[in-house]
Amino acid sequence: MLKAYSYAKLSALEIAGLCERNIDVSNKISKTVEEIIDRVKDAGDHALSDFAEKFDGVIPERLFVEKEELGKLAAQVNEKARKALQVAYANIYKFHQTQLAREEKIETTGGVSCWREYRAIQKVGLYIPGGTAVLPSTLLMLGIPAKIAGCRDIVVCCPPGKDGKLSPYIAYVAKILGIEKVYIVGGAQAIAAMALGTETIPKVSKLFGPGNQYVTRAKMIVHSRYGVAIDMPAGPSEVLVIADESCRPDFVAADLLAQAEHSPDSQAILVATSAGIIEKVNKSLSDQLAELPRMEIAGKALSNSYAIETANLNEAVTFANHYASEHLILASEQYESLIPQIRNAGSVFLGNFAPEAAGDYASGTNHTLPTSGFARAYSGVSVDAFVKKVTFQHITEEGIANLGPIIETLAEIEGLEAHRRSVAIRRGGI
Ligand code: NAD
Repeated sequence: MLKAYSYAKLSALEIAGLCERNIDVSNKISKTVEEIIDRVKDAGDHALSDFAEKFDGVIPERLFVEKEELGKLAAQVNEKARKALQVAYANIYKFHQTQLAREEKIETTGGVSCWREYRAIQKVGLYIPGGTAVLPSTLLMLGIPAKIAGCRDIVVCCPPGKDGKLSPYIAYVAKILGIEKVYIVGGAQAIAAMALGTETIPKVSKLFGPGNQYVTRAKMIVHSRYGVAIDMPAGPSEVLVIADESCRPDFVAADLLAQAEHSPDSQAILVATSAGIIEKVNKSLSDQLAELPRMEIAGKALSNSYAIETANLNEAVTFANHYASEHLILASEQYESLIPQIRNAGSVFLGNFAPEAAGDYASGTNHTLPTSGFARAYSGVSVDAFVKKVTFQHITEEGIANLGPIIETLAEIEGLEAHRRSVAIRRGGI
């Protein structure tokens, strides 16, 4: 099943190669996405309908669903699903609401006080993927922090289902979040529409949300071309599982498959401290894969994936830090001692009873996380991503008397005379 390597036999170059993923070597995805963005810029809503026909195989009757229709769709959701979505909502809300802690006012010099206040980004665009699976959980993961932050205009785009309609689950989550309009547009064209604005879709200041390679590339292009802020590049999902003899191979296989079923370009990596563990996990992978409805997708993703045998857990963590996975599972009873060594990961799951699916859905943490190695420099989505932190300062007459000479000297060093004078004039003489 998983192709196996031995860490000791890999060169630095080979390790680097194993850590590379989703590189658009031939620029094929970029070219397609650039054409889509240009078309949306020129033709607006028309282009959106054309692309829906071309890529989704349907043209939705209207580009959006509003309050009354959202209510009707939401009413189709059964009691069991409602209860599950409500519990997930409550846990995600509970975890995220503590993220806006007020910061202290600091007196840096007598009479000079500095502090920061949070201000919500007013117009945000949330992309909810829906190509191969409908993800109401992503609307929870993006909508809850946007609401907590106090964003005023929340634009939501989601691809149409095969029937050209919005999923009732998305409608239900929109309803519990108090979102009154959802646009039925997917892919790079949705990102372009929210970045540039069309006749129907409002232009936003910051884009959020995961998606396939087209969506992720579109976010990066509109960011660099048009200056629209983005949360992070959150592309095809991935997991890295570190397992030692204390792991449960069947649990490990289940987690790898949970990842693999996302999309054919997902990666599920196993880093194990013995060849025996890899063998047991591989055996369980074949048994469990055969039972999955999304067997074909998961099988393709596994053929993109691999296992590495390491000498010990420390070596396993070294590789994991290099790979910088979106999700990292420590399937070991020794998880606690490994925590301080973890440098690069989007979200970490500790012990044999913490499946990634818990974080995907309902434990409380966010599932919109950096992929493709971006965890080396980016964090996952949180309330922080929906606010700007504005700094304030107040300086008294005594404060400028105390700090003024320092500022004047620094202005002199930099040769900025007007800066020096703006202080000197307040201290009683230029
Ligand atoms: P999606 O909504 O991202 O993409 C579907 C859209 O892609 C379609 O509406 C279509 O417009 C466009 N598309 C399809 N084929 C195209 C083509 N040939 N050319 C141009 N555009 C095309 O849904 P998806 O495809 O199911 O992908 C969802 C992705 O999101 C998965 O890769 C999953 O792993 C990822 N994901 C990531 C995270 C994270 O936090 N990183 C979380 C959830 C999901």
